[in-house]
Amino acid sequence: MDPVAAPIGALVTEAPACDALPVYTHPMWRDRHPWLVQGITAAGDGDVPFNLGLFTDEAAHRVLERWRQLGAELGVASAVHARQPHEATVRHHGTGAPGLHLSEACDGHLTRVAGRLLGVTVADCVPVTLVCPDRRAVAVVHAGWRGAAKGIAEAALRAFEYRLDVGPSRLEAHLGPAICGACYEVGPEVHEGLGLPVPDRPEPVDLRRALAVRLVAAGVPASAVTRSSWCTRCGDSPFFSHRGGHAGRQVAFAGIRA
Ligand SMILES: [Zn+2]
Repeated sequence: MDPVAAPIGALVTEAPACDALPVYTHPMWRDRHPWLVQGITAAGDGDVPFNLGLFTDEAAHRVLERWRQLGAELGVASAVHARQPHEATVRHHGTGAPGLHLSEACDGHLTRVAGRLLGVTVADCVPVTLVCPDRRAVAVVHAGWRGAAKGIAEAALRAFEYRLDVGPSRLEAHLGPAICGACYEVGPEVHEGLGLPVPDRPEPVDLRRALAVRLVAAGVPASAVTRSSWCTRCGDSPFFSHRGGHAGRQVAFAGIRA
């Protein structure tokens, strides 16, 4: 196999984890890390999609009610989210009041406070979850191609290092449901931004693979990386897809059980 194209990380299929809400979790992490609250919501099969996007056209009070339902289902009192500007800023969060806290705009969150849920919304972009089992710390990152090109994945690793004194060799990483390489045909500027060979016409990019390469290059063990088998766009996807014409957003979340 061409080593350049070889996949990094074991393939994982997030599975439904809850009867009341469309919530999927990483089965290996669920078994291995019982202290961890992790997963991603899906569009759901009700008449009204389970949209968690606060910055969409849907009335905010309806979206906020779903965040409340999610927190109640997961047993967390406090959640953190932000508007996501496709930059490379990761914010560290200490203790917080109950309810949903909107921090200043950023594309990643980090905490080691139990009972604080971190959430990023996605619908084709890659949700990256990083966990440190020995320090019980978690981060979630929203990575589209712009954020990936600006170094959001590396920024999350630096945040672990500087805020918590946790190096990348102690982390596990998961690249969640996102648009797959076959569905994500993009112009030369995207390839160039990601440091890939630049084609002269639109060609597919596997954003999860590009992010996995960056994480491993920055010191995360390849054996500690997993990637979702779900494509948000193709197949039997239960998730929202921006390219698929959906207005809704799922939330990828991680926290430490209270
Ligand atoms: Zn696809």
